[in-house]
Amino acid sequence: MIVVSDIESVLPSLREARSQGLTIGLVPTMGALHPGHVSLMRASREETGFVVVSIFVNPTQFGPAEDFDCYPRPLNADIKTCEANGVDLVFHPDAKAMYPPGFQTFVEVKSLQDVLCGASRPGHFRGVATVVLKLFNIIQPDVAYFGQKDAQQVRIIRRMVDDLNVPVRVRVCPTVREPDGLAISSRNQYLDEAQRTHARALFQGLEEVRERVLKGERDAQALREVLASRIAATPGAQLDYAAVVDADTLKPVRKLKGEVLVALAVKFGTTRLIDNLSLTV
Ligand code: AMP
Repeated sequence: MIVVSDIESVLPSLREARSQGLTIGLVPTMGALHPGHVSLMRASREETGFVVVSIFVNPTQFGPAEDFDCYPRPLNADIKTCEANGVDLVFHPDAKAMYPPGFQTFVEVKSLQDVLCGASRPGHFRGVATVVLKLFNIIQPDVAYFGQKDAQQVRIIRRMVDDLNVPVRVRVCPTVREPDGLAISSRNQYLDEAQRTHARALFQGLEEVRERVLKGERDAQALREVLASRIAATPGAQLDYAAVVDADTLKPVRKLKGEVLVALAVKFGTTRLIDNLSLTV
């Protein structure tokens, strides 16, 4: 496995892989790798000939009061995880390489970036879209792998790829969960024991929504209330949003029809957790 941090050093390995006729898969991450990331590496390992994992805690997607400084960066353990899962190349640039002095170009995916998580994290998806397009341009993957856990991110990346004719196929893999249903996240380690126990309320709320829909509920407001009341009854939990939106536009729906996304964000202290459920009605 090759491990590189500067952009120039990535290119020879990619050229070599392409000259062998291998397709290139890219798994963009911020590190602190866990089984959710590993599922993306494995999907890439199965479907592409040369697997690249990028590890970059991207400063432009963090707000000023967010956890950029304390975000976990266990690089050596991450490299071992990549090696153990058949990754061919780890690319871990530093912020100076990605955003050299004078940098001033950003990608904005209008309207999709402003709702749901974008409403409480202004600028977040501008940072995400920008860094993902940069990674696509540096690695030039055939296929890029993302997790359904970050459903809005997926929607925004797909929109960007379509709008800007980016020649990358976007693959989305299911959310990997802890045994109690909590979506695995690098941020779960911020939770104390009680918060960790209560954090399963997100998944439980979504499961209740799924059951209600299976029983015929089609009123979006009733389903939002299922989530809101579940979180209101959870000690230490504060609802950021509970939303039932059209999966394509991310706009709120009144009645469930076609593909919808049920999503919520909840804060436990300063830790913000997200989860979602994708439904076809
Ligand atoms: P992050 O390191 O949090 O930026 O995540 C990198 C990629 O891993 C993103 O595409 C995430 O959606 C994906 N990911 C994070 N957690 C999970 C999970 N529990 N299951 C599946 N994919 C995940």
